[in-house]
Amino acid sequence: MRILITGAAGFLGSHLADSLLAEGYSVVGVDNLSTGSLNNLRHLDREPRFTFEERDICLPFDLGRVDYVFNFASPASPVDYARLGIETLMVGSAGTRNALEIAKRRGAKFLHASTSECYGDPLVHPQREDYWGHVNPVGPRSVYDEAKRFSEALVMAYLRYHNVDTRLVRIFNTYGPRLQKNDGRVISNFMMQALKGDELSVYGEGNQTRSFCYVSDEIEGILRLARSDEHLPVNIGNPVEWTILECARAVLRVTGSASRIAFHPLPVDDPAQRKPDITKAKRLLEWEPKIDLETGLRLSLDYFRSCLGAETGEVRAAIS
Ligand code: UDP
Repeated sequence: MRILITGAAGFLGSHLADSLLAEGYSVVGVDNLSTGSLNNLRHLDREPRFTFEERDICLPFDLGRVDYVFNFASPASPVDYARLGIETLMVGSAGTRNALEIAKRRGAKFLHASTSECYGDPLVHPQREDYWGHVNPVGPRSVYDEAKRFSEALVMAYLRYHNVDTRLVRIFNTYGPRLQKNDGRVISNFMMQALKGDELSVYGEGNQTRSFCYVSDEIEGILRLARSDEHLPVNIGNPVEWTILECARAVLRVTGSASRIAFHPLPVDDPAQRKPDITKAKRLLEWEPKIDLETGLRLSLDYFRSCLGAETGEVRAAIS
C-alpha cells in the first residue's frame, strides 16, 4: 500500500509517517515547509519506503499510484495561521480539493485532518460531533476555522458527488516531541519558558480550558479511524480538561522550574472552554487516550531540552 501524506513535515504529519512506515507501508510525503520542518523527517533519510517532495498542494499535482491520502497540510497554531492567513484559507480550499482530486483519480481512501476549531468558542460543553459550533466568520481566527469548516464541506461533497471514500477527524489540542518550539502554542511556550527560567505567559486570567492529548494517543486514534468506515466527523482528543493556569503549574512541576507566572491580555475570540466528547470514538474505534498530561509532558521534556540546547548553540555561534 502506498500512502500520501500532505503536511508530512509537520508535527502530526511526521508522526503519522513514522507509524505508517512502522506498519510496513510505503509513504510519500509532501510539504511546502511553510510551517513544517525537514528536521522532523531527518531520521527517515535512509528509509527506502519513504520519499519526500517539497511542493505546495494548492497547485494541482499527481504522484502516481496512491492507495490512501492523509490530508494534514495546514498552518495550525494560532500564531502561524494569523501570520499566514490567506495561505491557510487556500490550503483548506484549493489544497484540500487537489488532495481530494488525487483520491478520486487514483481510487484512494481519504482522511482529512479537521479540528476542534470547527466548534469555535463553543456554547455546548463538552463538544459532541453533532454540535454545529459557534464560530466568528470574520474574526482573526476565521482564516483557520472557516478554512477547516469549508474543508469538511468539500470532503463531504466528494463523498456524496464522487463516491470518494472519506473520513474526517476533529483533532483537539495535541502536544509532544516535534511541536515547533516557537509556534506560540501554550505547551511549547510554557515548556520553553520554564526550561529557560523565563516567566510563563498566561493569557487572560488563565481560567479558559483546553484538553490536551499526547501525540501517540492522537495518532493511534487517527489510524483507527482510517481503518473504519465512518464518514462523518469523529472527535479524537483527550477529554481531561485543564485550565490554562493549571496547565502552567503542571509544566512547572514537570520541569522543576522556578519560573514565575505572568498574566498577559487574552487574544481576540480565544475559546473559553474546549473538551471533546469522545463517546463516538470509544464506541466506534474502541479508542481512548492512555497518557495523562503530566506523563506526556515528561515524555516531551528531552525534546524541548534539545530545542533549548540548539537555541543556546545558535546564540553562541552568533556571538563567536
Ligand atoms: N495560551 C496562553 N499562553 C501562551 C499561549 C497560549 O495562556 O503562551 C492560551 C491561549 O490563550 C489559549 C490556550 O492557551 O487559551 C491554548 O492556546 P494555543 O495557542 O495552544 O491553541 P488553541 O487551543 O487556542 O488553538
